[in-house]
Amino acid sequence: MHLKSLTLKGFKSFASATTLRFEPGITCVVGPNGSGKSNVVDAIAWVLGEQGAKALRGGKMEDVIFAGTTGRAPLGRAEVTLTIDNSDGALPIEYSEVSITRRMFRSGEGEYEINGDRCRLLDVQELLSDSGIGREMHVLVGQGKLDSYLHARPEDRRAFIEEAAGVLKHRKRKEKALRK
Ligand code: ATP
Ligand code: MG
Repeated sequence: MHLKSLTLKGFKSFASATTLRFEPGITCVVGPNGSGKSNVVDAIAWVLGEQGAKALRGGKMEDVIFAGTTGRAPLGRAEVTLTIDNSDGALPIEYSEVSITRRMFRSGEGEYEINGDRCRLLDVQELLSDSGIGREMHVLVGQGKLDSYLHARPEDRRAFIEEAAGVLKHRKRKEKALRK
């Protein structure tokens, strides 16, 4: 499983539809300060269901919608589609390619789609729940976050690693079983 592409439309600084294609392996995004590199990462967190404006480096959720520049009017909605290669069947769905779309309007209304079919956030979360991707799974390490991991107490750092590796839920189950 790997990320295949990301399309942003009206998301933050990406007013016009922009598609980034990823190959298996490492992708680097380079550019000057303020050119939108972190906005790309925010878009991945957002399409996976991020609900916190702060986590997206904004004050309110509406801040993800293109706010306009001197030469360009603000837009009424933001839309992001993340396409995942599922040819190894890592995601529990009968498609070799899975596209997740999230859309949000200035009214605050939002919607999600899996392969073009409207669904709930819960369906997106369930689809990704055992895949290791999803929000709050330490798959996205923000600017400055690395520093806090390196300076964390050993037990906190262990918790980060266990959560990322997916062993935390097994440990909880073990503890529960031992209590019986
Ligand atoms: P750095 O190298 O400093 O980390 P960066 O490439 O990560 O920079 P970003 O933080 O991704 O840059 O982009 C910041 C830019 O995005 C700013 O110019 C900001 O004005 C713009 N931006 C953020 N939200 C919106 C929005 N809703 N509408 C229009 N532009 C936006
Ligand atoms: Mg940045």
